[in-house]
Amino acid sequence: MTEYRATICVCSDFDALSMWMDFGAMGARALSRGEFGPRVGAPRLLDVLDRFDAPSTWFIPGHTAETFPEITKRVADAGHEIANHGYHHESFDALSIDEGRHVIKVSNDALERITGQRPVGFRHPTGDLAQELLEVFVEEGFSYDSSLAADDFFPYWARGAWTHQHLGPSTPGPLLDLVEIPHSFVLNDFHHFEFTYDGPKLTGRDGPAPVEAIWRAEWEYLLANAPGGIFNLVLHPESIGRGLRIAMLERFLRDAAAEPGVRFATLATVAEEFRAAHPEGPA
Ligand SMILES: [Zn+2]
Repeated sequence: MTEYRATICVCSDFDALSMWMDFGAMGARALSRGEFGPRVGAPRLLDVLDRFDAPSTWFIPGHTAETFPEITKRVADAGHEIANHGYHHESFDALSIDEGRHVIKVSNDALERITGQRPVGFRHPTGDLAQELLEVFVEEGFSYDSSLAADDFFPYWARGAWTHQHLGPSTPGPLLDLVEIPHSFVLNDFHHFEFTYDGPKLTGRDGPAPVEAIWRAEWEYLLANAPGGIFNLVLHPESIGRGLRIAMLERFLRDAAAEPGVRFATLATVAEEFRAAHPEGPA
């Protein structure tokens, strides 16, 4: 897809308070874990990215942007991409399509007002999403989505809803004018360090070494087997920002970026390049 051997896309899902509030965790301890993101984690992550001169993509709930406008603006002013992550870290499958569309608009408006950037990308915050919502992403002007997982290292055209039948095969929907940049929990800090669907797991006492080993193994596989691939690393400031973990991240990025032919890029850049390489569009 590109002349690069590999592209590292560092993403920061900047959930702050909103994720805990969406879980119904409204106590002082839970909210303080969220507050660690804008207060400590995000500045540390920005510093690491600055040392690598690495552009990155920040998926920011509208609630984070409006509650912590200064650090949100600092992210944008440092040249990073601002993208949509719902307003309140909603699970969109609990909303109607029209309610989902409204949340997307309100969040886009808040992000644009505070950062000056109108998002062109979306990542679903939590839970699942209706297949029909992907068509709303197109209508709302998004160039790409990064919520799905049908590939690992390469973008593809997202498609409309599958049609199913009783005791028969399923038929995929038509391709949409929406680039899907897949992501995986394998490369998601939060799902290693903080949470899995079978319940919260506090693994901080284990240290970051197992996660570093997983990321390095995936990176080595990409380099050996997926030339031109995208390494979509999904970070959360409140999780990766802890001292022992941010040090692990910097160590990993230093070694990864030292490989010849490797670059950092935003997801918006990856989507643009995918579109340029497929001028026929999603037909
Ligand atoms: Zn999130």
